[in-house]
Amino acid sequence: MLINTDIYFALKDVDGHYIKMHNTVFKLNNLYQEYSLIEIKMQGKRRIVFKIKCPICDEYHYYIYKINDIINKDVIIMGCEKIGCPVMYMGKKEQVLSIIKKQEQIFKDIYFMV
Ligand SMILES: [Zn+2]
Repeated sequence: MLINTDIYFALKDVDGHYIKMHNTVFKLNNLYQEYSLIEIKMQGKRRIVFKIKCPICDEYHYYIYKINDIINKDVIIMGCEKIGCPVMYMGKKEQVLSIIKKQEQIFKDIYFMV
């Protein structure tokens, strides 16, 4: 069976939009070179640590996931530890895009109501 190791990321920016990124699980370190908001490190052979500069509270949050979970789960949501609001979605492209499409629509609706 062919395993799909493509990982899709959507990181919220300070304006409530999403920065979209994509990479394979084996080249995640490259993301840090391209996007300084996320730092990714291996912890041992099976875990990955994500250090994210939070667009909501402006502090750094840390998340640790097993590589297997990252590959197998449709979507992993990383939230702000202070406010509990989602900051980054990671997972399969279609699922991530479908969630942020809804989120951006909600954000637009709120913006137009104000
Ligand atoms: Zn935060």
